[in-house]
Order: sequence, then C-alpha cells, then structure tokens
Amino acid sequence: MDFKSYIRDVPDFPKQGILFKDITPLLQDYKALTSAADALIENLKKGSIDKVVGMESRGFIFGPMLADRLEAGFVPVRKPGKLPYKTLRETYDLEYAKDTLEIHVDGISKGDRVLIHDDVLATGGTALATTKLVEKLGAIIVQCNFLVELSFLNGREKIKPLEVKSLITY
Ligand code: 5GP
Repeated sequence: MDFKSYIRDVPDFPKQGILFKDITPLLQDYKALTSAADALIENLKKGSIDKVVGMESRGFIFGPMLADRLEAGFVPVRKPGKLPYKTLRETYDLEYAKDTLEIHVDGISKGDRVLIHDDVLATGGTALATTKLVEKLGAIIVQCNFLVELSFLNGREKIKPLEVKSLITY
C-alpha cells in the first residue's frame, strides 16, 4: 500500500515556517489504518513484546492497536502532571525551550521487552527521553517504530544504537 499518499502536508502549522505531516487522512481510512498497523508489526523481528510504550498524544493512536496485535500491554508516556500515580520524569531540550515527559513507575517491570511507538520521528528528542525512562525502569527496548520519519532531522542518530523502523520516510 502507498502509505505516503495518505499523509497530508500542512504548511505553517503549528507555527509559521513548519511543514506539518498530518496523519489524519490515513487514520480516516479503515484499510490504510489497519494495513499501517499490520505493516508496523511485520517490521518487528521475532520474539515476544510485553509492553508497547506510546508517547502523548499521537502515540496513543497506533500504540494500543499494536499492543492488541502483539497481545501486549500499553503504557502511556505523558506531558507533566497528566499521570495520576507516582511517576519517573525526564527533561529534554527543544529548539528554544525544555520539555518533560513522565511514565508511571509501575508501568514497566524490570526485564520487560518493550516496543516504543510514536507517530512521527522528527529531531528525536521525544524518542530519546522516552527511551531513557524505559531503560531506567530496567526494560529491554526491542525496537522504536514510527509511522513517519523526517530523516533530514537525523532523529535516528539520537537514539542510536537502538533499532529504528519507520513506515514512511521523508
Ligand atoms: P521530535 O521530538 O522527534 O522532534 O518530535 C516528535 C514529536 O513531535 C512526536 O511526538 C510527534 O507527534 C510530533 N511531531 C513533530 N513534527 C510532526 C509532524 O510534522 N507531524 C506530526 N503528526 N507530528 C509531529
């Protein structure tokens, strides 16, 4: 399936000068939606997954779909102050600011085999902070997968040597 044809470019969103990759046309189409989830699973090497970790908020769309296919649990990584129980937090740099992500301390058990998923890999800051949270909880990261990778931003380099797979690359 030509997944790229379901991704829409939106200029100047959310800010002037940014060309936003809008994944909603793919989500709206049942065949594209389910085929994309199936293809993300096909790219995973063999072996079981205990938990899928998805980042707020678009990682919450495919994350549970992948977890369902893998018979794994789903663990959300969220912006600060959103998770109700005890959390572990990681602060990371944005272009002109800092951001923080949190995970529940009991979301993952030591030795769990984890798949990390987000919709888009851009600079890799979000993914790197998430991998740090997951590693601090003692898990094994089997793969980080993304629907879309903006390869010119070199996010993949940031999370080396972890395995990275993406369905659509720009
Ligand atoms: P990074 O931390 O890699 O720079 O940015 C990735 C995060 O920003 C992801 O959580 C992703 O949802 C969001 N993001 C950045 N650029 C885009 C984009 O063009 N389209 C979409 N859908 N999300 C983006």
